[in-house]
Amino acid sequence: MKKYNVGVVGASGAVGEELFKILEEQNFPIAKLIPIASARSAGEEIEAFGQKHVIQELTPEIFAKENIEIAFFSAGGEVSAEFALHAAKAGAVVIDNTSYFRMDKDVPLVVPEVNPQDIALWKKKGIIANPNCSTIQMVQVLSPLHQKYTIKRVDVSTYQAVSGAGKKGMEELIMQMQKFFAFELEEAESKAFPHRIALNLIPQIDKFMPNDYTKEEMKMIDETNKILHSNIAISATCVRVPILRSHSESITITFENEVDSNEAKKLLEGAKNIVVCDEPEKLLYPMPMIATDTDETYVGRIRNDLFDKKILHLFCVADQIRVGAATNAVRIAQEWIKL
Ligand code: NAP
Repeated sequence: MKKYNVGVVGASGAVGEELFKILEEQNFPIAKLIPIASARSAGEEIEAFGQKHVIQELTPEIFAKENIEIAFFSAGGEVSAEFALHAAKAGAVVIDNTSYFRMDKDVPLVVPEVNPQDIALWKKKGIIANPNCSTIQMVQVLSPLHQKYTIKRVDVSTYQAVSGAGKKGMEELIMQMQKFFAFELEEAESKAFPHRIALNLIPQIDKFMPNDYTKEEMKMIDETNKILHSNIAISATCVRVPILRSHSESITITFENEVDSNEAKKLLEGAKNIVVCDEPEKLLYPMPMIATDTDETYVGRIRNDLFDKKILHLFCVADQIRVGAATNAVRIAQEWIKL
């Protein structure tokens, strides 16, 4: 089997670190691993595949110099804007975790369980985009339901973990909780989030757009329709909550026709990388603590609306650093090498 030179831009970040773990767990066919970050972390070492690898500084030339064939990017949109095309020009396929290229019509936006066929369009720019973390887990659940019953409308509220904002998000929540236990919470600074996140929740993720939705909410709306090749009416409310890891979503789905919740449950039980966790009598339902560190999307609380049989409600949870970023990126790469 052919082995690949794999570069990871953003190697010292929350997503980058998880990528190394998943590549190793999946026994990804790697010839050479090249961790890349900014000058801040260059020279530091990461451990993967039983070896230490020195982080290199990102430059436009590094992709050609190291003969990188697969380049995972997770260092923010500005870095992808500046460097992804250098990587593609040097012959690499770029799998980009940032939002920069997601809505570019020449860049496929892929969740391998949903639209693997779109990967073939990678040649247009040499780039495949990984969707937003909240979008990925939602479309994994919507896709089988849409194929069988045709969705008309989706209303979603999210409960998003602080690690969605990277390592600095986690550090800020931990620091503020330490201040709380030291009776100093009032002095806690907020840098990663617009308000204190400890013992609070914030109904704003990313900046506000002129239409009063946030950019995160618009990502969920636009990306979902791009991935599903649909024109579904969607409304999203994205909320940051004081938990470290795994995003939760309360989703209300309106179908063209009546849908039975037990049938829908059976359908989801057969869907790839979905775990139906729905036994209310045993107090079993999806929660961040069961999704964290796993590669599945958990769905439960599946029930019909009490007033309209065309409506289903459900709750889904996934580890957004894995399912919502690193695992999805590795799954894309695994499909890409089959082309
Ligand atoms: P993070 O923990 O803050 O890590 C950022 C990484 O980017 C670090 O390795 C950092 O390297 C590197 N970096 C920053 N500026 C750079 C530059 N100018 N040149 C080279 N490297 C640079 O962030 P993250 O959570 O891993 O997120 C990374 C990207 O993935 C973001 O675009 C984010 O939106 C996306 N994403 C994140 C999640 C999530 O749940 N966290 C989910 C989906 C998508 P240094 O150590 O050198 O600063």
